[in-house]
Amino acid sequence: MNVIECTVGPFASNCFICYNADREALVIDPGAEDERIIALLHSEKLTPKAILITHGHMDHISALAAVHGAFPCPIAMHPTDQAWAFAPTNQMLPYYETPAAPPEIERDLAEGQTWTDAGFDYEVWELPGHAPGHVGFYFRDRNILFSGDVLFQHSVGRTDLPGGDARQLTASLRRLATLPPETTVYCGHGPHTTIGDELKHNPYMQALKP
Ligand SMILES: [Zn+2]
Ligand SMILES: [Zn+2]
Repeated sequence: MNVIECTVGPFASNCFICYNADREALVIDPGAEDERIIALLHSEKLTPKAILITHGHMDHISALAAVHGAFPCPIAMHPTDQAWAFAPTNQMLPYYETPAAPPEIERDLAEGQTWTDAGFDYEVWELPGHAPGHVGFYFRDRNILFSGDVLFQHSVGRTDLPGGDARQLTASLRRLATLPPETTVYCGHGPHTTIGDELKHNPYMQALKP
């Protein structure tokens, strides 16, 4: 699996584009800079087969409607976050506008689902705490997790936004700590890391040790 890490918008959010040898792609969290993401997909000659959303915060979905408009394909998102993500309350400066809603969200994500898109198999893990409908995408056979804003390199997502819950975040991190240490984690912000490195160096993960 090839992974393009595209950092977008005022919060330096990571939009990931994963693609196979046939240049079929998954787009994860098109958060901002729709024109840049669309141009990148065109220039790399990629065909998105699905757009996956880790959670509803504006910095992860503000380019969703435009990217979907340019490359129609199923959108997958947890219904708990669909409920508030496109409402005017989902705003934080310098994002001045409510994220545009796509015409339809075809897939309601839920814990335990498995999907295959662009030839990649992945599991949906509900990981609440940073946002109530937050999910991670776990590609078990490739040892890859897209963690959204639950886990960052040497840090974790904040829990003081609406729907945030520190206890839930701790439970989500505890779950991630069970993954094989060699698992690569692509985070919603900042560089990618591994579970093993976070267990060693991330104070929040260290605190989970018995
Ligand atoms: Zn977030
Ligand atoms: Zn974020």
